[in-house]
Amino acid sequence: MLRGVRLEALDIEPLAGRAGVGIDIILPGGTPVNVPSDEEFVKDSPYILRKKGDAYAITDLKKEVAVRIVPIPSFYGRKTKTGVLFSDIAKVHGSYAVITPLPYCDFFKNNIECRYCAGNFSGAGKKEKAYSVDEVLETVDAILKEGGLNIIYLSIGFSEGEDGGILFLAPYMREIKKHFNCLIAVEALPPKKNHWIDDTYALGADSVLYNLEIFDQELFEAICPGRAKSIGRGRYIIALKYAAGVFPNGTVASHLIVGLEPPGSTCMGIDFLTGIGVVPILPIYRPKKGGALRIEPLTGEVIIPIYKHLYRAVKKNNINMNWVRDISSITTPIEGRLLTGEGQGGINLIFDQFYKSRLGLKTAWGLSTLRRKLRVKSPKEPEDL
Ligand code: SF4
Repeated sequence: MLRGVRLEALDIEPLAGRAGVGIDIILPGGTPVNVPSDEEFVKDSPYILRKKGDAYAITDLKKEVAVRIVPIPSFYGRKTKTGVLFSDIAKVHGSYAVITPLPYCDFFKNNIECRYCAGNFSGAGKKEKAYSVDEVLETVDAILKEGGLNIIYLSIGFSEGEDGGILFLAPYMREIKKHFNCLIAVEALPPKKNHWIDDTYALGADSVLYNLEIFDQELFEAICPGRAKSIGRGRYIIALKYAAGVFPNGTVASHLIVGLEPPGSTCMGIDFLTGIGVVPILPIYRPKKGGALRIEPLTGEVIIPIYKHLYRAVKKNNINMNWVRDISSITTPIEGRLLTGEGQGGINLIFDQFYKSRLGLKTAWGLSTLRRKLRVKSPKEPEDL
C-alpha cells in the first residue's frame, strides 16, 4: 500500500480497466489489499508483481510471496437499462461496494475542495449527474448477484443544506432496504443538526462514516478548506460522538489519512476517536502526480507503529472491530492486529468465518433490524423524509 508494485511485463487480463485505482490483491492469510500500480511513485517501488503460470507472486528479487489477484467483477462491463455502465455507478473494494448516486461536491464550485480529493467528484452539472433510484437498484442487484459482497456504501460529497445529504440519499436507502437483504453504510459529511443522524439510522443505515481525515487543527484547515469553513472540526467531533451513541458499537467510523500529518498527530487522533467510541480507519495517502501534500518520509518503520497503536486503542476501548473490515483500499483495526502478532487463529478465526458466511450475514442483518426498531422512537417516520 505504501510503495506499490511494478508490473513485470505482465499481460494480466484481470487488471484491464483498473487504471488509477490500483490492483486488488489477496495476501497470504486472506487479507485484501489495494496496491498502487500506476502512480508516479510506483516506479521506485522495490516490489514487482509477476505471473507464474496461472498464479501470481510479489517479489523484491530476494524473496517471493504468492498472492491472488481479485478479478474485475463481471458486472463492471454490463449496463443499466438506461445504458449506464455499472462500473460508473459502483466500485468494489474487497467485501464492499461504494455507490456514489451523485458524483458532485459543492466545494469544487468555490475552489475549496479537499486538496487530496481522489474520487470522481466534480462541481459541475449537479442535477444531470444524479443516477436514478432505479439505476442504483439495478446496480445493487448486480453487485449482490456477483456474490461475496454484502455491504453497500452510499457515498455523497458536500452540498449546501443542514441535512448533510441525507434527504437526497433517503429514497435510495429506503428502496435498497425494501428490495435487498444487505447492509448499508453512509459515507457523508456531518449534518449541521444531530437529529439528521437519528434519521440516518432510522432510514436503515447500519453504519455511518464522517471522515475527519486530519486530526491536527491547522493541517485540517489548510488541507480541507471546504470542510473547515462549511462544517468545522468541532462539528465533526460533536456529530461523531452523537452518532456513536445512536449506532451500534463499532459501526461509526472516521478516516484519518496516514501521510498528511505527523504520525504522532495521527496517533492522537486515534486516541481521541476511540475514546468517543468511533473506529478510526487509516488509509495511506497516495500522492497524485507532482503532489506536494505528502509529509515525508513515510516508511514501513514509521507507519507500522501507527497501525499497532490503532489496534490496541480500539481493543482497549472495547470497540467492535467486526463491522469495519475487509476493505482493500484501507487498513482497518483488525488488520493492525496481525502486525501486533496477537489474536491469530482460534476463536477469532471461527468468528471471522461466521461473519463471512451467509448465516452470519443474515444474523447480523436481523440483529441490526431489531436493534433499529428498539432504538428509533422518533415520532417522525422515516417515510416522512
Ligand atoms: S468533501 Fe472533499 S473529499 Fe469529499 S468529494 Fe468533496 S472535495 Fe472530495
